[in-house]
Amino acid sequence: MRNDAYKSLKYGTTTEKYLNMKLNFTMKRLIFQFRSETNYVFYKKASNLKGNRKNGFGNCELCGKETEDVYHVFCQCIHYKKHRNTLVNESGLNFHQMERIDFMVSTFTRLDENKVKQICKFWDNAMRTRDFICTY
Ligand SMILES: [Zn+2]
Repeated sequence: MRNDAYKSLKYGTTTEKYLNMKLNFTMKRLIFQFRSETNYVFYKKASNLKGNRKNGFGNCELCGKETEDVYHVFCQCIHYKKHRNTLVNESGLNFHQMERIDFMVSTFTRLDENKVKQICKFWDNAMRTRDFICTY
């Protein structure tokens, strides 16, 4: 099922555009992780989201409403709304309430360098918020 979605997003056998951009490795790795829908995301540090087998596909600790995965962070959770609004204002990328995960993943295939940087900033800020709320 997931492979079918990937095939619909992947055209031909060329290298993905973001891999040839002048970005550091950690940024490219982050986009790769989002495109591959992993929920163990490593950017500046590990973010072990609850939505994986090891964590029992658990719900978000911030809102408790949905499984905590990358889609939830980018598109659903109310606690990241401020960062999502900043992302819209600075890059035009609007993930808020994006209805389907394949819409989100396809967005990651159509990025320029500036948008990749804005997404990395969003993730960094969102994970700082997550760490702060989960710690206190
Ligand atoms: Zn949430």
